[in-house]
Amino acid sequence: MRVGHGYDLHRLEALPPDGRGKPLILGGIHIPHHTGPVAHSDGDVLLHAMTDAILGALGLPDIGRLFPDTDAANKDANSVLFLCEALRLMRASAFEIGNVDCTVICETPKIGPLRDALVAQLAQLLECPIERINVKGKTHEKVDAVGEGRAIEVHVVALLRSKAASHD
Ligand code: MG
Repeated sequence: MRVGHGYDLHRLEALPPDGRGKPLILGGIHIPHHTGPVAHSDGDVLLHAMTDAILGALGLPDIGRLFPDTDAANKDANSVLFLCEALRLMRASAFEIGNVDCTVICETPKIGPLRDALVAQLAQLLECPIERINVKGKTHEKVDAVGEGRAIEVHVVALLRSKAASHD
């Protein structure tokens, strides 16, 4: 078994013309909201942390090295593509998802009502049963940038199982 941790944070700004925020996308789901991430790609903070957790478990270069934000090819990129590359590398190494545990930290939107949809979407993207996915929402108690609604952050821990090893 291998364990990996992924972390990501994006600044949140008002949508144009008042700010530079892009539409808020979490786990590949567009969530209508008055602010959104400032990002080179689509700014899907959940999928970025997920991608890094899987890459970390494999001991591979992180998302920033695989998909640099200086590369025009990644501008406005759909972050599902980043995750799919991490999953391709995982399968090439004969690993599968054991389970993933995600913590999304923001003041708004509230994650609780979105939880089931996020779990279902992640299970579809990771091609594994929903029982292997967990998503938790936390606030930052109104302090610091996250607590003031100026940023959103995500932690993901991913456990990968070797398909080559016995599981007893
Ligand atoms: Mg990111």
